[in-house]
Amino acid sequence: MQDLNWSKLPFGYVKTYYNVRSVYKDGKWGEIEVTDNECVNIHMAATVLHYGQACFEGMKAYRGKDGKIRLFRWKENAKRMRHSCEGIYMAQVDDDLFYKMVSKVVEINKDFVPPYGSGATLYIRPFLFGSGPKVGVQPADEYTFMIFVTPVGPYFKEGFKPIKIAVVRDSDRAAPLGTGTFKVGGNYAASLRGVIKAHDAGYGAPMYLDCREKKYIDEIGAANFFAIKNNTYITPESSSILPSITNKSLEELAEFLGYKVERRPVEFTELPGFEEVGACGTAAIISPIGEINDLDTGKIYKYCPDGKPGPVSVKLYETLVGMQFGDVEDPFGWVTVFDF
Ligand SMILES: *Cc1c(COP(=O)(O)O)cnc(C)c1O
Repeated sequence: MQDLNWSKLPFGYVKTYYNVRSVYKDGKWGEIEVTDNECVNIHMAATVLHYGQACFEGMKAYRGKDGKIRLFRWKENAKRMRHSCEGIYMAQVDDDLFYKMVSKVVEINKDFVPPYGSGATLYIRPFLFGSGPKVGVQPADEYTFMIFVTPVGPYFKEGFKPIKIAVVRDSDRAAPLGTGTFKVGGNYAASLRGVIKAHDAGYGAPMYLDCREKKYIDEIGAANFFAIKNNTYITPESSSILPSITNKSLEELAEFLGYKVERRPVEFTELPGFEEVGACGTAAIISPIGEINDLDTGKIYKYCPDGKPGPVSVKLYETLVGMQFGDVEDPFGWVTVFDF
């Protein structure tokens, strides 16, 4: 394999040795196929191409100081993928097949799990889609479940740094009774207008408000939102946000560390009262937010006055990332250590 500059890698695609796949036909999943083919050959009438029957997951493999490779809460990803499949009527994968395929694809690409200390990780992308043909709008009879991996650099190349986000009101990512809680492809197509608008205005990500009243905070791009106030970790309760495993872990960790935790509708007007605000997800774990620009009113909300993330965000980030790499003891049983 080529020499990779681990700590400079972007969050992008780097070819590895193999990917794994299984096809669901006649009511059951077939043999696991290992291949170096980066392409998929599917029927032109496959439901994924017309009716968006597709979902994905995002997780990482971390190499510890002991050289061993670790996964973080993989069962939560397996469970959420079933939730997504159920939501758009696709065949589901049980824990057993999910784990077999994740461990296989990591093992056969283990040369690509970045060394401890580089801050880089192996990103794991499981995805599942309707590969069988249908012309009328209905679920497919055949599905394909695949996983590829790709090494990704540390999210914050110059250290843990605050980001700037822009409030977007003229497009919605997901409706209250829509598909927002499922990690399905259509939601990301729907989010692109907001993402591009924020990027074009010079911001890292869009903030989505609830689409009924534009009164409550929903999400930040493809990450959940949290705020800190009076030793309390506050995160939105909403029927249109994606249930982040990082957010769930931060809530449990915050409680364990003695903070109060509130999951409730969070009004946009509460922003000036928060001490710290951040976005959370597998990619960066925590992205502290330094500035929220309401593009419609011109109002700017600022945090991190000295340009540094707040103390609670730092504490949560360091503890969670420490557990993932095996540097901090994991009292929750969240980490799985591979034996290869
Ligand atoms: C994947 C995702 C998240 C983060 O979920 P994690 O499980 O923490 O990685 C948050 N919001 C959206 C819209 C997502 O797609």
